[in-house]
Amino acid sequence: MQQHLSNELLIALAKEYGTPLYVYDADHITAQYKRLTSAFASTDTHFFYACKALTNVNILKHIKSIGCNVDCSSINEVKLALLAGFDPKNVLYTSNGIHFSEIEEAQSLGVNINIDSLSNLEKFGQQFQHSYPVGIRLRPNIMAGGNIKISTGHDKSKFGIPVDQLDKILALVNEHNIWIQNLHIHTGSDIKDVDVFVKGIEVLFDIIPHFKELTSIDLGGGFKVPYKKGDAETDIPLLAQKVSEAFANHPNPNGKPLQVWFEPGKFLVSASGYLITAVNVLKENNGTTFAGVNSGFNHLIRPMFYDAYHQIENLSNPTGEEKLYSVVGNICETDTFAWDRKIHAIREGDLLVFYNTGAYGFEMSSNFNSRYKPAEVMVKDGQATLIRKRDTFDDILRNQVL
Ligand SMILES: *Cc1c(COP(=O)(O)O)cnc(C)c1O
Repeated sequence: MQQHLSNELLIALAKEYGTPLYVYDADHITAQYKRLTSAFASTDTHFFYACKALTNVNILKHIKSIGCNVDCSSINEVKLALLAGFDPKNVLYTSNGIHFSEIEEAQSLGVNINIDSLSNLEKFGQQFQHSYPVGIRLRPNIMAGGNIKISTGHDKSKFGIPVDQLDKILALVNEHNIWIQNLHIHTGSDIKDVDVFVKGIEVLFDIIPHFKELTSIDLGGGFKVPYKKGDAETDIPLLAQKVSEAFANHPNPNGKPLQVWFEPGKFLVSASGYLITAVNVLKENNGTTFAGVNSGFNHLIRPMFYDAYHQIENLSNPTGEEKLYSVVGNICETDTFAWDRKIHAIREGDLLVFYNTGAYGFEMSSNFNSRYKPAEVMVKDGQATLIRKRDTFDDILRNQVL
C-alpha cells in the first residue's frame, strides 16, 4: 500500500516504456526480506520465496542475491529457479495434485520436494525407498486466510494429506522406509492472526515424534500485507516470538533441533509492484463516472477474481480535487478495478497507478481479448531495467497453426 518509488520516476518509466507497465522495486523486496530475517534472527528459520507470486527470472535472481531460498508450485518454476542460479538444495517444490512424473523430474534435479497425496507418497517409496529425503504436505484442518478462495488448510480443502490419515502415511513410510525430512502445512493467504501459525505448529507437534529423521517443519506462507491505510498486517516480530516459545515448550523428542521454514510470497513482493495504466475514456452515467483505462482483468485479475482491493492514485494530477470514480478496464467483460473510489480528478490521458501489484499481478495475466501482456521493469539501486518486453502481435500468433 505504501509507495516507495516517486511519482516522477513512475511517470518517467511510463513515458519510456509505455503503458500498461508493471514496475517492481527490488530494494523494497530486500527490505521485506530483512524484516523477516531480523525478526527470526535468534532462531534457525529459513525463508523460501513462494515464486508463483512473481516469477520473472530477474526477480528470482534478485531473491537469490539477498540470500533467500525459493518455493515452487510447478516443475517449470523449479526450472526457472535453477535457471536463475539457485542451488538445488535451496529450492523447494511444494506440489499439489501433480502427476508422479513431475516428482521424478524434481528428484532428478536434486531439489527438495513436498509430496501432497498418499498415492504419490506410495510411488515415491516404491521407487526411491530411503535414497532421497522428502517432505510431506499435510492438511491440518485449520480454517484461515482472507477468504474461502485463498484458504487451503481447512477440512474440505484439496491441499495436502489430511492429518487424520496419519496412520496411512506411517504405514507407507514404514513399508518403504521413506526418508521423511520435512513436514509442511500451508493454511492460506492473507493470514493476519499469528495464532493460526501457532495452531499449525501445535498440530505438527503431535505428529513430529513419528518421524525420527525429521530436520525441519515448514509452516508455508500467507503473511498478510496492508492494501490500504489502517489495514492490518501479520505481526512478524510477534510471530517470531510465538514460534520460539512454542519450540521452547516442545523440544524435538527425537533430539535434533528442528529448522523452521516459511514460504512467503505476497509479503516479499506485493508492495514492490506498481501497475501503471493510462485513462482512455471518461463516461458519465446515472451519477457514476467511469474512468476506463488501457488495461483490464487480463493484466490484474485480483479485484474481479477475489474482490481484492488495490489502492489507485492519479500520477498525473496528484493534488486535484477528489471525486468518485469507478475505474474499469477495456475488456469485453465486466472488469471493474474499483467501485465509486475517491481519486484525485481524472482527465483522459492521465496515468493511474495501482499499488500492491507485485504479487499475483503480472503472474496471473493473460492475453484475453487478444491483447498484449504488459512490459515489466525492475528498479534496483535507483537503476531501472526492462525485464520483460511488451508482447507483440507475433506473441498472439505464436503456437497457432496457420
Ligand atoms: C501460494 C503459496 C505460498 C505463498 O502464499 P502467500 O500468500 O503469497 O504468502 C506459500 N506456500 C505454498 C505452498 C503456496 O501454495
